[in-house]
Amino acid sequence: METKISKRAFSLAKKYILAGEAVAFHTETVYGLGANACSDEAVRKIFTLKGRPSDNPLIVHIHRDYDLSRLIDFDPPYAAALRQAFLPGPLTMVYPSKGKVSSLVSCGLETLAVRVPASRTAQAFLRTVDLPIAAPSANRSKHVSPVTAQHVFDDFGGEIPLILDGGACEGGIESTVLDCTGEIPQILREGLVTREMIAKIAGDCLVYLPRKGEKPKSPGIAHAHYMPKCRTVFCRSAEEAAACFERESAKGGKPVILCEHAAAETLRGYRLLDLGADDLEMAARLYALLREGEKTATLLIGIEPKKKDGAMAGVLNRLHRAFATEENGN
Ligand code: AMP
Ligand code: MG
Repeated sequence: METKISKRAFSLAKKYILAGEAVAFHTETVYGLGANACSDEAVRKIFTLKGRPSDNPLIVHIHRDYDLSRLIDFDPPYAAALRQAFLPGPLTMVYPSKGKVSSLVSCGLETLAVRVPASRTAQAFLRTVDLPIAAPSANRSKHVSPVTAQHVFDDFGGEIPLILDGGACEGGIESTVLDCTGEIPQILREGLVTREMIAKIAGDCLVYLPRKGEKPKSPGIAHAHYMPKCRTVFCRSAEEAAACFERESAKGGKPVILCEHAAAETLRGYRLLDLGADDLEMAARLYALLREGEKTATLLIGIEPKKKDGAMAGVLNRLHRAFATEENGN
């Protein structure tokens, strides 16, 4: 199958969606792989294309004027204020579901995750289709999420008919996933809408931490993700990273160090991928640099950033998962 990359083929995208195909589209976080959320067959296609575990539910995307009450059964008192403050934007809200979309979307859970993306490309696509679109990130399962149309093409070229190209994703990490089924909202996955930002509007905000052995509330957080295809190692300091670099070079390998700007300054002369100086810059660059690193390095060496505030919680979560195993072989 030919994979078209287009900036404005929204009518064509609608044709493909109505025919049960999956279409990739730009959002402000990462590119999504979308299909008709009301069709079992279309939703199944997403799981098959990605190789996604069947217990990892999908987020439904809607345009800004779509009537949310068609999809959800209960709207907690704090939710309207959160929507007003952050939507359209990088916040996914989980509600009790009305069961109007395919049961495969939520993998049997009685809840539904809903997002209203801010990207103009995503909005134009969703408005043209005027259906809830189930869409995970447009990468093969476990791989690094895509932040350009080319990244999507690298994973799915020849397997999907269309990529709606809106340029590079300015946010760079996936949306914050917020459980809105309880009295107090609870973050299930950290993102650019932070706990502090949510608490300011809702009065309070919890952050979910799965206990050992417990089935996590957000199944996706239990799965391997964001993994570069080369070997990886995560270091606590620039000195440790430099030692890893020397060892790999001595073996004839080609190591690359991925780190925040302050560490990069102390490691001049080494082959480096500089994530930048602040949390938003680091989020925006992370996946593109992981994908660049895996193409050129035999060993990708990450360094734990010193910064931990604001949106860094989301960046750190992705970094820890990208470098989850010591020298993984994937
Ligand atoms: P992805 O689309 O690949 O970024 O992953 C979607 C994330 O949303 C995963 O971490 C899922 O576990 C989470 N998610 C989707 N639907 C639900 C739901 N109904 N309840 C809790 N988490 C969800
Ligand atoms: Mg994903």
